[in-house]
Amino acid sequence: MIEFRDVHKFYDKLHVIRGIDLSITKGEVVVICGPSGSGKSTLIRLVNQLEILSRGDILVDGQSVASLRSRSLRQLRTQIGFVFQQFNLYPHLTAEQNITLALRKVLSITPKDATLRAVELLERVGLADKRQAYPAQLSGGQQQRVAIARTLAMRPKILLFDEPTSALDPEMIGEVLTVMRDLATSGITMLVVTHEMGFARELADLVVFIDQGVILENAKPSDFFLSPQHPRTRQFLRQLL
Ligand code: ATP
Ligand code: MG
Repeated sequence: MIEFRDVHKFYDKLHVIRGIDLSITKGEVVVICGPSGSGKSTLIRLVNQLEILSRGDILVDGQSVASLRSRSLRQLRTQIGFVFQQFNLYPHLTAEQNITLALRKVLSITPKDATLRAVELLERVGLADKRQAYPAQLSGGQQQRVAIARTLAMRPKILLFDEPTSALDPEMIGEVLTVMRDLATSGITMLVVTHEMGFARELADLVVFIDQGVILENAKPSDFFLSPQHPRTRQFLRQLL
């Protein structure tokens, strides 16, 4: 489903992704963790080309993203949902309108069908009663759930998450993780950057630890947490506890 082949990324002279190889099959949930600045965000932003590859390639469903031109790139992006740490909702639109906007503009879905889909998804993330609320009237956890509903509305094949709970107060992390748990068990392919090791332990098929742009560990959660191979991984896990 997603295959990284000797992926490199430079920001000018700064070599931040330094030869990543990784295969993710359909339906897998892969958690990426590692210290600040290790290249986690850059790595997942490369998947839908929010960052341009410097070397190597990423295959999504067998298609090389390096060679995509603008039109096919737009098409690829509709198939890949991206959930950010900062929810990026439109402040002047209601929860429902935040969801229907892209459906109407990008997928040309009729207003009626877009609304139906929005209502269904708000229900799925536990916000059926917040259709008409504006982002400022919602808690951080609720805003993030609207953002996830908006992403799901596009019916993506792949979901990318970049620290979706890091901007939230502790009491709101659980409600977002509940939605992510529901998704993880639904069979969609997920690539998740997170420090939530509970989520990793419980739901990941694979945990990948990166440091300075290199994969140091790529293991099933049971192995990752019980017998990490690399001293840097052991140090990282100790700091989290
Ligand atoms: P964090 O845990 O703090 O989010 P990260 O693992 O996501 O960190 P990245 O954001 O991918 O790390 O950054 C990797 C390196 O690339 C860092 O040294 C960062 O300063 C640098 N970097 C990231 N984005 C850019 C950019 N647009 N231009 C230049 N350097 C960048
Ligand atoms: Mg980051």
